[in-house]
Amino acid sequence: MQILLYDTTLRDGTQREGLSLSVEDKLKIARELDLLGVHYIEGGWPGSNPKDAEFFQRIRRVTLRHAKIAAFGSTRHADATCDADANIQALVEADTPVVTLVGKSSTLHVEKVLETTPQENLAMIGDSVAYFKERGKEVVYDAEHFFDGYKLDAAYALATLTAAARAGADCLVLCDTNGGSLPDEVAAVVQVVRQHLAQEGFDVGTPDARLTLGIHTHNDGALAVANAIAAVRAGCIHVQGTINGYGERCGNMDLIPLIANLQLKLGYRCVTPEQLRRLTEVSHYVAAVANLNPDTHAPFVGHSAFAHKGGIHVAAVAKIPDSYQHIDPELVGNRMRIVVSELSGRGNVRMRAQELGLELNGNERVVLQRIKELENRGFQFEAAEGSFEMLVRRAAPDYEPPFELLDFTVVVSKHGDRDMTSQAMVKLRVGDEVMHTAAEGAGPVNALDRAIRKALLPHYPELADVQLVDYKVRIVDEHLGTAAKPRVLIESARGEERWSTVGCSENIIEASFMALWDSLELPLARRRAMAKATTESLQG
Ligand SMILES: [Zn+2]
Repeated sequence: MQILLYDTTLRDGTQREGLSLSVEDKLKIARELDLLGVHYIEGGWPGSNPKDAEFFQRIRRVTLRHAKIAAFGSTRHADATCDADANIQALVEADTPVVTLVGKSSTLHVEKVLETTPQENLAMIGDSVAYFKERGKEVVYDAEHFFDGYKLDAAYALATLTAAARAGADCLVLCDTNGGSLPDEVAAVVQVVRQHLAQEGFDVGTPDARLTLGIHTHNDGALAVANAIAAVRAGCIHVQGTINGYGERCGNMDLIPLIANLQLKLGYRCVTPEQLRRLTEVSHYVAAVANLNPDTHAPFVGHSAFAHKGGIHVAAVAKIPDSYQHIDPELVGNRMRIVVSELSGRGNVRMRAQELGLELNGNERVVLQRIKELENRGFQFEAAEGSFEMLVRRAAPDYEPPFELLDFTVVVSKHGDRDMTSQAMVKLRVGDEVMHTAAEGAGPVNALDRAIRKALLPHYPELADVQLVDYKVRIVDEHLGTAAKPRVLIESARGEERWSTVGCSENIIEASFMALWDSLELPLARRRAMAKATTESLQG
């Protein structure tokens, strides 16, 4: 069965604390959602802010291949008309093919929050839905607090749905606004709603029925996805959620695992298999635009979702990938990763080296021993593939280091109210030649980097293209306070090529020096290995 996906990242998703999207950001995300195959994109609440109104103006000029744009707003105010209601008129101006109206389902909210009568609320729902149906719109009716309202007064909650259905709504969406419902309750209520609507003459069981049922859940009980799946299995066809579950408090229902579970586990159709392979990319793209770090442990799409670290697991996945994976990661655009760490067996080292195209020549044990020693001292190779590569390369008996750092001095000084200065002096050997260089820098690490390069550049001009693009420091033993060790992670680049290296020491300068050393030796070692391979193939 086809499921209709309704994305509200641009409206409900931006309710998340710390998340703010410009109009430009919203347009970018809308394009990406369209490529993913989402059926509806809720662009915002035009009555609530000018930014959303601008989005609706600009999205009209964007060609969407698949998705329909929806504007969100509430039913008309009590004792007023739609024509005189500013919020309703903002929805008219948004001029979208789909209008989503939110209304009250709970007598508590009608009487205490809206301060009107249950009867007037039914009229507000009916009038507002009919107003947009008369204007040829597809109308989605969001029944706010439906599950809580149902518990309080089932007959009234059902009556609000009847009001919307009779006025011509195309979809009735049951909202677990406070996110406190459990999957069994959700399924049971959806069943009751279906029976009720059938008695009223509305069949909601198929996607092409005149009226469909939808579900909108929140994650306050960590059950948003489970609740949405329960609702779908009970007969909801339309599902509302956000990318990465962004939303108020603990978030909205995360469309990413919902799509993957419905499609891969339960046989529903949400998007095409090609679109499903975009899932990882879409999740990371939206995180990047929202300026949030992607959750590395997110199910299906996280960097660690299919990472294998324990030695036994790695040995097993090397033989049968499915042995420790619930799905083939490529179906959602992710990949299996082998993590190298002190927990690893020789199999991890072998597979990781293979992935990097490195020959181990029987050195697994030596490399693993070295990794264990260094991890004990606070190093971590999981995110430092460049340093792992250098360990493997240096373990080869015929490895000739392109240079050797003999010693260094770093001086950081501040005189009066002048700026701080940093100077580094380095003693370094290339072949038989020993060199002394000195350089100043924006900080001690920068000065060190410059001094090392100054000595190396005459011998290795190719290092001129190598850039340090990221520098991160993390404290290894947080509970030790100042005695804790800094671990430095450096990311370097040459064109499209990237590698990260690690250093760890009680002294942050020494930790940086170690990571810097690996980061500069790696491109030279790679080039030598390549040159050697070419010579050998020419000779052979
Ligand atoms: Zn919501």
